Amino acid sequence: MDRCVRKAYAKINLGLDVVRKLENGYHEVRMIMQTVGLFDVLTLEKRSAGITVSTDNGELPTDENNLIYKAAKLMFEKHGITDGVHIHLEKNIPIAAGMAGGSTDAAATFIGINELFELGDSEEDLRELGVKVGADVPYCIMGGTALAEGIGEVLTRLPAPPEAYLVVAKPDINVSTKFVYEHIDSEGVEHHPDIDGMIEALEQQNLDGIVARLENVLEAVTVKAHPVITEIKKTLNENGAMGSLMSGSGPTVFGVFASEEKAQKALEAVQEKGFAKQLFVTGFAEGGIHGK
Ligand code: ATP
Repeated sequence: MDRCVRKAYAKINLGLDVVRKLENGYHEVRMIMQTVGLFDVLTLEKRSAGITVSTDNGELPTDENNLIYKAAKLMFEKHGITDGVHIHLEKNIPIAAGMAGGSTDAAATFIGINELFELGDSEEDLRELGVKVGADVPYCIMGGTALAEGIGEVLTRLPAPPEAYLVVAKPDINVSTKFVYEHIDSEGVEHHPDIDGMIEALEQQNLDGIVARLENVLEAVTVKAHPVITEIKKTLNENGAMGSLMSGSGPTVFGVFASEEKAQKALEAVQEKGFAKQLFVTGFAEGGIHGK
C-alpha cells in the first residue's frame, strides 16, 4: 500500500465537568465525548524520506507545529521507519473551536501510518502514544461515545445516543483552551453536570434525558468573554432545539433537534442574525479507528 485516505471526525461534549486542578497544572475532568459527522480528510502517501504536511487551509502551520507532523514523527521514531510520508489535510472542522480538530487529525495520522506501513499497533498502543500529542487524542483514536476521565485519557466506552439532528455553529472568534482552563475556578463551581445521570440516560436510550443533562462548566467562563454564545443558544432554542450547549472550551455551540427540517430552519435563523458563519447540520457518528 502506497497511499491511504482517512477521515478525521470532530467531537462535541454532551457533558463536561472539571473535578479539580492537579499539581502539574492540568485539570482532572469528567466528560461525555461524542463524535459528530463533521470531518477533515487526510491523504497519506509514502515517500522516500522525511515527513511533510500540506493543507488547503492557509491559517494552519505545516511545519513541526502541526499536530499531524507530531503524530507522524512519534510513529516513525517508535518503529524506526526510515522511509518518508507526505500527508495532505483537507480542513473542514472549524479551528480553535472546542471540537478537537487538531487532536482528531493527529488521531487519523496515528491510525493512517499504522495502516500504510503495516505496523500492527493495537488501538491500545496507538492511544498510549497519542496522549503524548494531546489529552483528547486517545479519545479521537477510539471515537464514538465515551466517558473521558483523568486529563481526558482514561476512557470508558458508552452506548451511542439515539439518532438526532445537530446544528453546529462556530462564531467568528477564536478561544484559547489554555485561557479558559486558566480561568475556571474548579473549587468555586457551584453546579456540577450530572455526568452519571447522563450515562444512565445513554444506557436507557432516552434522548430527552440526555438533552435535559447537557451541561458544561467551561461555558460560564467563555460566555463572559463572548456573550454571542448565549445569543446562539437562545436562537437555537427559540427555533425548535430540544437543548443546546457550548462544546469543550468553545466557542462552538451545538443544538439537538428531532427533525432535519427544524435543524435547517434553526441554522438559517443563526445565519440571518450574523452570529456565526461556520454552520453545519450533522448528526452523531462513530469515527475513530473503526469509523472510516
Ligand atoms: P480542542 O477541542 O482539543 O481544544 P480546538 O478545536 O479548540 O481543540 P484546534 O482546532 O485543535 O482547537 O487547534 C488549536 C490550535 O492548534 C490552532 O490554533 C492551530 O494553529 C494548532 N494546530 C496544529 N495542528 C493543527 C491541525 N492539524 N488542525 C487544527 N489546528 C492545529
